[in-house]
Amino acid sequence: MIGAGFGGLNAVVGLRNAGADITLIDRRNHHLFQPLLYQVATAGLSPADIAAPIRNIFHDRRDVTVYLDEVTGVDMARREVVLRTTRIPYDVLIIATGATHAYFGHDAWEAFAPGLKTIEDATAIRRRILIAFERAEMARDESTAQAQLTFAIVGGGATGVELAGAIAELARRALVADFRRINPLRARIVLIEAGPRILASFPANLSAKATQALTQLGVEVRCGAAVSACDADGVTVGGDRIAAATILWAAGVQASPAARWLGADCDKVGRVLVGTDLTLPGHSEIFVIGDTAKVATNAWPGIAAVAKQQGKYVARVLKARINGETAARPFRYLDVGNWATVGRKAALIDLGWMRMSGFIAWVLWSFAHIYFLIGFRNRIVVALDWALAYLTFRRGARLITGPLNEPQSKTPDLV
Ligand SMILES: Cc1cc2nc3c(=O)[nH]c(=O)nc-3n(C[C@H](O)[C@H](O)[C@H](O)COP(=O)(O)OP(=O)(O)OC[C@H]3O[C@@H](n4cnc5c(N)ncnc54)[C@H](O)[C@@H]3O)c2cc1C
Repeated sequence: MIGAGFGGLNAVVGLRNAGADITLIDRRNHHLFQPLLYQVATAGLSPADIAAPIRNIFHDRRDVTVYLDEVTGVDMARREVVLRTTRIPYDVLIIATGATHAYFGHDAWEAFAPGLKTIEDATAIRRRILIAFERAEMARDESTAQAQLTFAIVGGGATGVELAGAIAELARRALVADFRRINPLRARIVLIEAGPRILASFPANLSAKATQALTQLGVEVRCGAAVSACDADGVTVGGDRIAAATILWAAGVQASPAARWLGADCDKVGRVLVGTDLTLPGHSEIFVIGDTAKVATNAWPGIAAVAKQQGKYVARVLKARINGETAARPFRYLDVGNWATVGRKAALIDLGWMRMSGFIAWVLWSFAHIYFLIGFRNRIVVALDWALAYLTFRRGARLITGPLNEPQSKTPDLV
């Protein structure tokens, strides 16, 4: 089993008492609840609130051995997974290695516009955001201060919308009384979307409500023009130059390189094309699931619910195989809808048969996210942090860690 994200974790959980001998390999020692990463990036939560050590999750499972290492390939002829340090034999292989952000052929932009995928990304973004306010406080002139106080977020999907809303609240609520030379209310947050509207996977009326909620928070929403340049000083979009010290990338997706490891066919974002039983064509011993997989006949979104259900499905198929059943019913996704939040008071939920927005939706969104967090402690901590933030507007995790000078950003003229 490669990957202890949503897909991998659910496959291993589903294989409890199956009589299998499971080796779970991940290059990180923790399972990460990515839907709340934006809260770490904007100082709302601490990293440990949204991550749980994999070894600890399976401490009572004698059938699960956890290895911390990076997979670099699969030797299909010898049925071995190739790691940085060694090789591990397999009878059945499940690949659930997820996806990362993509820059549409402009890889050089990554240095200026980091994406959000890991704890390290989130703490690096938190550092950039908080340092920008510090630099603005010390800026020698007005235009330097304003550039430091300008945040450009590229990509109007759920992550971009959530980041924009949270940065706006950080500036306008949490930081507002903490500076002397600048007024954080002057922070300019620009959400850039190349398509005609934000939250394209939601119905148009919910997308319009999200735009309205963001605008009320002071976010500028710019749709219909793609970023054409991106550097240490800002972005160019639709011919306009936006001077911004902080640019965040929430636009493209690229699957993990599993297709390369397997020499398999893939779609244009690198997802392995698998059959309806999620196996690699011609290889019933290899399953690929979650963000790394694509069933040609379906267009399921790259979300946690799909990965979780696929993990559970593979566990059922393998249990059936152990009991001598070989024919598997095709995987079917039970649609749990689309969910996104805008700041600490509004959310949007589209369940198909029911659509809602506003505060009640935010309460439901909060309960759902707390419920799905791994580990009792994390649930309690997140619930308390949110309750405190809601009542006081405080952000408990406003720590600047790591180097003060990002190698890719310029230090402005300071006092
Ligand atoms: C910022 C952000 C916000 C999101 N918000 C939501 C949301 O609100 N709702 C929602 O449903 N979905 C959301 N998603 C999407 C959701 O997180 C993914 O769809 C889901 O995590 C996919 O699960 P997975 O198991 O395929 O991959 P992942 O959960 O990404 O897990 C992949 C695992 O594989 C490991 N791995 C990768 N490569 C290797 C390697 N070479 N060797 C060893 N280990 C490796 C990784 O360390 C990781 O643990 C969000 C994603 C992001 C990035």
